[in-house]
Amino acid sequence: MEFKKQLKNIKKTIAYHRIHNGFKLKEEKRYNEPICICKDKNGEFKTLYITQKKAMDEAKEVWKSKGIKLKSYPCPDTLGWHLSRY
Ligand SMILES: [Zn+2]
Repeated sequence: MEFKKQLKNIKKTIAYHRIHNGFKLKEEKRYNEPICICKDKNGEFKTLYITQKKAMDEAKEVWKSKGIKLKSYPCPDTLGWHLSRY
């Protein structure tokens, strides 16, 4: 359990630094994907979108290419958005 807690803290720190650096490097048009500790039912880390618009853009693509309807919801762990099936 202790290990899991530590891992969560490390992930949070990394996510914070990625977002922080992302803002800092905005002028260079560098783009850093933020991360969080949310996992899907297969145990894979879920994709974190910085804005709801980015999440919805992706949802539209999935709907067009795979016919799967997705909804966006705010990440419970950090700043950002996830996609989930209805
Ligand atoms: Zn999340």
